[in-house]
Amino acid sequence: MTGLLCLTIGAQAQVKKGGTYPISPVPFTAVKVTDTFWGQRLKASREVTIPLAFSKCEETGRYDNFVKAAHPSENYKVGGLSFDDTDVYKTIEGASYSMQTFPNKKLDKYIDSVLTIVAAAQEPDGYLYTSRTMNPKHPHEWSGSKRWEKEEDLSHELYDLGHMIEGAIAHFQATGKRNFLNIAIKYADCAVREIGDKPGQVRVVPGHQIAEMALSKLYVVTGNQKYLDLAKYFLDNKGKTENKSEYSQAHKPVIEQDEAVGHAVRAAYMYSGMADVAALTGDKNYINAIDNIWSNIVNKKLYITGGIGATSHGEAFGKNYELPNMSAYCETCAAIGNVYLNYRLFLLHGEGKYYDVLERTLYNGLISGVSLDGGGFFYPNPLESIGQHQRQPWFGCACCPSNIARFIPSVPGYIYAVHNSDVYVNLFMANHSDIKVNGKTVELKQSTNYPWDGTIKIEVAPKSKQNLNLKIRIPGWVTGQVVPGNLYSYSDKKTLGYTIKVNGKEVDSKVDKGYFAINRAWKKGDVVEVHFDMEPRTVKAHPLVQDDQGKVAIERGPIVYCAEWPDNDFSVLNVVLNKKPSFTVERKADLLYGINEIKTDAQIMSYDAQGRIVPKDVKLTLIPYYAWAHRGSGEMAVWLPNELRATRPVMPPSLGSESKINASHVTKALSAISDGLLPKDENDHTSPYYHWWPKEGTTEWISYDFPTEKTVSRSTVYWFDDAPWGGCRVPQSWSVYYKDKNGEWKPVENPSKYGTEKGLGNDVTFKAVTTKALKLEVKLPEKNAAGIFEWEVE
Ligand SMILES: [Zn+2]
Repeated sequence: MTGLLCLTIGAQAQVKKGGTYPISPVPFTAVKVTDTFWGQRLKASREVTIPLAFSKCEETGRYDNFVKAAHPSENYKVGGLSFDDTDVYKTIEGASYSMQTFPNKKLDKYIDSVLTIVAAAQEPDGYLYTSRTMNPKHPHEWSGSKRWEKEEDLSHELYDLGHMIEGAIAHFQATGKRNFLNIAIKYADCAVREIGDKPGQVRVVPGHQIAEMALSKLYVVTGNQKYLDLAKYFLDNKGKTENKSEYSQAHKPVIEQDEAVGHAVRAAYMYSGMADVAALTGDKNYINAIDNIWSNIVNKKLYITGGIGATSHGEAFGKNYELPNMSAYCETCAAIGNVYLNYRLFLLHGEGKYYDVLERTLYNGLISGVSLDGGGFFYPNPLESIGQHQRQPWFGCACCPSNIARFIPSVPGYIYAVHNSDVYVNLFMANHSDIKVNGKTVELKQSTNYPWDGTIKIEVAPKSKQNLNLKIRIPGWVTGQVVPGNLYSYSDKKTLGYTIKVNGKEVDSKVDKGYFAINRAWKKGDVVEVHFDMEPRTVKAHPLVQDDQGKVAIERGPIVYCAEWPDNDFSVLNVVLNKKPSFTVERKADLLYGINEIKTDAQIMSYDAQGRIVPKDVKLTLIPYYAWAHRGSGEMAVWLPNELRATRPVMPPSLGSESKINASHVTKALSAISDGLLPKDENDHTSPYYHWWPKEGTTEWISYDFPTEKTVSRSTVYWFDDAPWGGCRVPQSWSVYYKDKNGEWKPVENPSKYGTEKGLGNDVTFKAVTTKALKLEVKLPEKNAAGIFEWEVE
């Protein structure tokens, strides 16, 4: 996003003709963050995430790929993913941002050494794609036999180019050195030469977008029109080449699109690229299309955490209002893409509503993607868990960690923006900054404990008396609008207020497009005090969001809360909130790097031995959603029932729930098979389940060790099957075993049919056995895994 910084810097410095965004970002280099909340995140990024990402690039052979490409051989086996090169570029990008505010000679040198091996891997005509170059006869299986052939499928050659340009420009800005920029220009020139409609050229568009944003930026930095032309070519030819899939947003011409569909990261990057090209070319058609798409997202496809991309099937947007919680995909990269898009829409239109979405995403569904210490990452960011989710130090597909490495250091660049004498204060975090307004530098200093309290002091210090229109964003959460549109609304009857004072005196102004404007001649020593009321609020979702019905989410200020297991000595998935809950807020300075904890009265429901529902009063504790999954794995929920229809009473004990479960692959999710929660139908992917993915074709098992010897004659299995996109199918075959007196597994006798119906209980009866343990032996399908919602035994 700092990219946009280059859009403006470059625009002033080099681009004579052509447009740019009406509103100019204030680059993060002009902003020094002194904030506790963000200061800690920036430090973790600098000291942990970026060094970790570099060391992973080394350890996982990503550097070796460049070394091999410099000396190709038919003996190299090309492994990994076809876009592994990008993790190197993305980490250099993040490190570059970081070095601009925290100069680091050692890091600078290290990056130069990496760039030496990157440069050596570049083919003489500029092409740089190690997955092919290291062994052109037997390239990566996704690469195709010649250049660009599989670009719209899975080769990611242009995705590599895009991230290379983004990284190279950041590096150029940070160091003034051209060693990375020259590599990127050479590869971009290769793409410009080889792609297009002229004779000898290949007609192809990016399979995974990002080159559109990157080439726009390269145009601004170099002033060379051909890069902007290629970016526009990519957009204008979407849907007009061989690939017409929704997955890649190629189902129709981009200017005709009005619904967010397909792979969410690709989509958000493409919409952002459309904003960039629109700003630079003045093409209104792109703007109309992204305005419509944005409206579709905020009204129908946005999680309350700001996450986008509901389904793991194709890492994609779901249908309108399809927002499941436990299976929510909400890829970290997609949250970053959502920030990119809303930022650009703000720069185009100057309305605070885009920042309402941006702020919600930033404080919730984006930073949840990285642990507080900077060393653990989520790929999906679900809104509910039974303990099957944990942050990991890295992934084989490392897009999310390396995206976090490049995004977090750029956060200070999102605080302010300028347009003529308008100075936008968009985010609230303690900082000192020097902002250029009408050619003069104005010093702004914010002090605040945001997001924990709503008081913000802004000291305004122009060099000499200066007219400024200070535009302070009044967040939607203050004015009673959860997000723009009607997807979410506050369900309590509270009204929050705000006050704004200049030099101790309250000032009044109409809020226009989300901003409170103070237009006056400012002088050194002027102080603005902003106060937003901050209270816990309950939010409900639109009636068409099935998964949130009868439930509310709790938030305070910009922070969305969740209930997590370590703070509650009962199952947070069985809780029901009071109809009129009251909340207490307590500062916990030592918990999770300092949070405000919320408590409220609630009940848990359970069945007693007679099958009656018995309520019990409990005190429910909530923590910020971003801070979950730091204390081991277990239950978590953002949406909590406040109506009976949504409750899940604790099921009466069953033989399964009283047994010790073991399996050929042990995970926390094992408890799902005896939790009494059955799938709604054969397409249910949201009830808790256990699976053997990514195993394929093997024989697996799962067993119940009964508390005492039992006589059993029936076993019922609900199979999990997430065809066509997921990795699980019903099994090839299965059978039930019991443990005999000698402790040996024996097949049960006279079994009825071993069924594999989806969504139903597959009952098998057999000759009664008295035993201490029962086992399922499951033969996985040849090319898939299998999974189980529930296994009942009688
Ligand atoms: Zn990702």
